[in-house]
Amino acid sequence: MVVANQKGGVGKTTTTVNLAASLALHGARVLVIDLDPQGNASTALGIDHHAEVPSIYDVLVESKPLSEVVQPVPDVEGLFCAPATIDLAGAEIELVSLVARESRLQRAIQAYEQPLDYVLIDCPPSLGLLTVNALVAGAEVLIPIQCEYYALEGLGQLLRNVDLVRGHLNPDLHVSTILLTMYDGRTRLASQVADEVRNHFGEEVLRTSIPRSVRISEAPSYGQTVLTYDPGSSGALSYLEAAREMALRGVGVRYDAQQAHSRMQNGQQNMAEGIQ
Ligand code: ADP
Ligand code: MG
Repeated sequence: MVVANQKGGVGKTTTTVNLAASLALHGARVLVIDLDPQGNASTALGIDHHAEVPSIYDVLVESKPLSEVVQPVPDVEGLFCAPATIDLAGAEIELVSLVARESRLQRAIQAYEQPLDYVLIDCPPSLGLLTVNALVAGAEVLIPIQCEYYALEGLGQLLRNVDLVRGHLNPDLHVSTILLTMYDGRTRLASQVADEVRNHFGEEVLRTSIPRSVRISEAPSYGQTVLTYDPGSSGALSYLEAAREMALRGVGVRYDAQQAHSRMQNGQQNMAEGIQ
């Protein structure tokens, strides 16, 4: 599952690590692949990722087997992480001249022999070759959307990229899941945006949305997910619930990209009009 949205700060990393931990706590074996040079997912999972640590960079650029970089996550049984180091910042350019530059992650995952129920890929906030590698490797796309104005802006570009990758490199790829993040029920804007997203995406949007929660934002500074940091908090419970919903949906619904484009364009317009 590719967690993507080229906007920064919408909750990709938070969603990746907390959903992954939730799925592992439900008994699944889960691998998080950190594909952002910032390495925030690695940090949040308590995984060392200083420059010398074998990382996803070595897998993508040096063809190192994935199994040589994967580390078990402390505190959560069944959860594993392929960390990102700062080297990855150069990979976007280094990949350009390599053979099969778009499918290096796909090959690495295919060659990985440990049993896994889920692989979650945390993408950087861009649509470059790293994100393309994730889209080629993935089966489904999960888009976190922050409940604020401009929430849908830029999503058209992401959906077009999904279409392009589906057309040329990965025929099964589809957007299966949309998760509303940082939802603040006290503001009218948040509920208005949530309504728009639900109207225009329909069934792909999980019923569970993730509330804005201080506990969620504190957890990474302790190298933890909110599930271990404060298991009873509203943030932990909402990620557990979102994971349960995702797991129950199984392979999810097929996504009609064409229809979504037009629904989204209307949405953008309605939202602008509504808010003016
Ligand atoms: P991205 O990976 O898309 O850039 P992050 O997951 O890093 O986004 O989130 C951006 C910031 O928002 C981080 O500081 C994170 O701790 C905070 N954040 C994410 N989700 C929540 C939430 N539900 N409540 C409060 N803060 C959140
Ligand atoms: Mg991130």
